[in-house]
Amino acid sequence: MKTLWTPWRMEHVLGLAEKPEGCLFEPPGTHGQDKQHLLLYRNRRIVVLLNRFPYANGHLLVAPRRHLADITDLNSNENRELMTMLSDCSTLLRRRLHPDGLNIGLNLGKVAGAGIADHLHFHIVPRWQDDHNFMTVCAEIRTIPQHIEMTFDLLRPDFKQLLDKEQNR
Ligand SMILES: [Zn+2]
Repeated sequence: MKTLWTPWRMEHVLGLAEKPEGCLFEPPGTHGQDKQHLLLYRNRRIVVLLNRFPYANGHLLVAPRRHLADITDLNSNENRELMTMLSDCSTLLRRRLHPDGLNIGLNLGKVAGAGIADHLHFHIVPRWQDDHNFMTVCAEIRTIPQHIEMTFDLLRPDFKQLLDKEQNR
C-alpha cells in the first residue's frame, strides 16, 4: 500500500477552494461546543475541531487557542493539555469508530505541508485495515456533508463529558 499520510495535500487544495473568515482554530463565541463550526471541544487553552474536509471519517484537529505557529512557542500547560487531549481523542475515536490504527501528525511550516501554517495544529486520522480505497470514501464524505454532522453528533457526547470533567476540576 502506498503512503496515504498526505493530509496537507487536501488541506492545500481545499484551503484554496474555501477560505474561512478569520482563523479556523479560533471559532467565534465562547461555548465549549459548536456544531456550526464543527467545534467539539474548547476550554481556556485548547480546541478540538472535526476536519470539515476529512482525510478519513473522524479526522480531528487539535490546536492551542493561542495563535502560534511553532511547537517551541507552546508553554508547558499547553504542551501538557495538548498531549493529554491527543490521548483522550485516541481513546474516544477507538471507542466510537473502532479504527485499526491512528495517524497523529504535526506539519510545521508550509514546506512541511501545513495548510494553515500560522496556527499550529495536530491531525488525528483514524485508519482501517482495508482503507486503501479511502480516497473514494473521502470524496463521498465530502460531497455528503451529513456524514460530517453524523460523526460530529456521534463524538459530541464524549467531548461534552471531557468538558464537564474540566469544569468540575
Ligand atoms: Zn489562529
